[in-house]
Amino acid sequence: MLGLMQDWPLLCHRIIDHAAIQHGARPVVTRSVEGPIHTTNYADIRKRALKVAQRLDRDGIKLGDRVATLAWNTWRHLECWYGILGIGAIYHTVNPRLFAEQICWIVNHAEDRMMFVDLTFLPILEKHAHGLKTIERYVVLTDAAHMPKTTLKNAVAYEEWIAEADGDFAWKSFDENTAAGMCYTSGTTGNPKGVLYSHRSNVLHAFMASLPDAKGIAARDVVLPVVPLFHANCWSLAFSTPLTGASLILPGAKLDGPSIYELLDTYKVTFTAGVPTVWLALLQELEKTGAKLPHLKRIVIGGSASPRAMTQKFQDSYGVEVIHAWGMTEMSPLGSLCTMKPEYAALTGEAKLDIQMKQGHPPFGVEMKITDDKGKNLPWDGKTFGRLKVRGPAVARRYFKDDSEILDQEGFFDTGDVATMDPHGYMQITDRSKDVIKSGGEWISSIDLENLAVGHPKVAEAAVIGVQHPKWDERPLLVVVLKKDQRASKDEILAFMQGKIAKWWMPDDVAFVEEIPHTATGKILKTELRERFKDYRLPVQ
Ligand code: AMP
Repeated sequence: MLGLMQDWPLLCHRIIDHAAIQHGARPVVTRSVEGPIHTTNYADIRKRALKVAQRLDRDGIKLGDRVATLAWNTWRHLECWYGILGIGAIYHTVNPRLFAEQICWIVNHAEDRMMFVDLTFLPILEKHAHGLKTIERYVVLTDAAHMPKTTLKNAVAYEEWIAEADGDFAWKSFDENTAAGMCYTSGTTGNPKGVLYSHRSNVLHAFMASLPDAKGIAARDVVLPVVPLFHANCWSLAFSTPLTGASLILPGAKLDGPSIYELLDTYKVTFTAGVPTVWLALLQELEKTGAKLPHLKRIVIGGSASPRAMTQKFQDSYGVEVIHAWGMTEMSPLGSLCTMKPEYAALTGEAKLDIQMKQGHPPFGVEMKITDDKGKNLPWDGKTFGRLKVRGPAVARRYFKDDSEILDQEGFFDTGDVATMDPHGYMQITDRSKDVIKSGGEWISSIDLENLAVGHPKVAEAAVIGVQHPKWDERPLLVVVLKKDQRASKDEILAFMQGKIAKWWMPDDVAFVEEIPHTATGKILKTELRERFKDYRLPVQ
């Protein structure tokens, strides 16, 4: 017997409808790419998104077509998302930090028909446009006054393009399982893989993300997504902010410390989210100027592990609660957030920080398990680590144009991360499965060693890789970048680590380098490091 409730498909554009009706006047403020601050609201965003939809429809963009965006977080970019969604086309966010060749590969693979592009990226695009085979038209996200001369095919200024539509248009209706958005994984090995979100998965994920023990956003909040729309579906903020009716502050192209501080302060931002690198820049700015953060209440730090010192600084010096979060493009992307369950709520000081070093617990809609290499479940004791696998309505089941099976027999997706689970359901990442060092049949966490090494006052950045060893298979090599004008010996670094980890975890050697390579999303590029050190000879003990 079926239930007798209404059929109301979970379509993403219903979120902007709700925001326009219930929270229509709420401000959406952007530092525009052209420079000045621009202010609009949800009601106008919806009106203009309808024009985008109408105009796309007139240009022949159909259900299932891919439309690329190469753009910063701005009100125009948001209008594009909802306009594309509203006719059943698919927004495809392209990460401008990728190499031009990767961008070409991704756009061709996705067969994007149109591209919305910010002024910032015109020069690089013009150079490589001949490699973008499927794009029929470029819409430059600016007005006629700022539109430069460009060689891009059928290029038009966004404001002129939507001015040709009157907005007298109704969203299209279709099944909630229709594809909505697309984002390619950064892919440290092989070609990038396309993750294809559905309307249903995005809407359910936005609900999940907004829960009190997740991001806990309310209409009273002022939200600044520093995480770009092109990074893993913007951690849901393009959906969960209008869904809850919070005000939205968009940073445009300027993500440096002073610019972010200015927005936080001027607009009394209460909630923000981004990767550790941007927060490092903000903390440096605060230290330099002595400024405070009286309005900011919560900050989500994810994408890579939040360093203990960063969490502590935000909380102790600025009174901002840190929510450590973990996720991945394949998970829409949120997997877990480190908010306090009653079991941990009373903790303070170092004991609280110990828990906050964990990546947290999954909200309803994400199931987790840890297994050994053979797929056997491992205990949730906070110590045993294994492959982290996940299941849920906003987790990928396949990649775009790829038939490979990516789920196990129980329907779980292997995240490629290695983690522990504690008895209260808190997950802690110990490594990427391809980065753990397999020494004599046991696993050594490269991340634990890195975290320890960066605690040394002279160390700016550290990476640990496994190097071939005749007896133990692999042993850890610590690669270190020293802070500016600092000198240190290998023994000095090792002595600092001694006694803080098991003896057999101690790196066999330390290599000092000028720079550690990173991916386009700021993660350490271990493949390149391993290549660089593949003939490295460890000292004989
Ligand atoms: P991406 O799909 O590019 O967002 O990358 C996802 C990967 O980033 C995860 O599988 C993790 O390896 C890593 N990651 C994300 N958040 C965290 C975190 N809080 N701590 C450690 N690693 C993280």
